[in-house]
Amino acid sequence: MIKDNIYNNIIHRFDTELMTNVSGKNPCVVFDIDGTLIYENDIETYKEKLIIDICKFAYYLNSNNIPIFIVTARDMNVPNNYEDTEKLLDRLNINYMKLYLWDIEEYKTVVDFKSLTRKNIEDKNYKVIMSLGDNYWDYGDYGGTGIHIFENGKFIQFV
Ligand SMILES: [Mg+2]
Repeated sequence: MIKDNIYNNIIHRFDTELMTNVSGKNPCVVFDIDGTLIYENDIETYKEKLIIDICKFAYYLNSNNIPIFIVTARDMNVPNNYEDTEKLLDRLNINYMKLYLWDIEEYKTVVDFKSLTRKNIEDKNYKVIMSLGDNYWDYGDYGGTGIHIFENGKFIQFV
């Protein structure tokens, strides 16, 4: 568990992964949203409260032209969910290549949705060198180094 200097720890690990990427593919990073970039939205006062260290990492990637993909289990079939999530990411000022929401008709489980979406990204000549989230399905297959985010960013763990 890492609880101090979270941002610096992530950057250091990311730079190491980047240097050792020998896939020949375009390196990229995958982020979850809820409990990852912003606080889990269970208490009204936490609405859109940024998890600073993780957002800062996204800004670092933006400024270094490392592509970001956003893969969230928010429901694709809820009206306006996609647009509202796009607007949220605009407010966070995070640039990304593509936003994916969970289409339950296409993927039966969140585990399938997350891992097969990462596979999809890798099939487009990207290499996911890191994936960040607050659930075990946010990393793993096609996910490179996982970063598990605990308690709205209080702790992280490399997986
Ligand atoms: Mg989450």
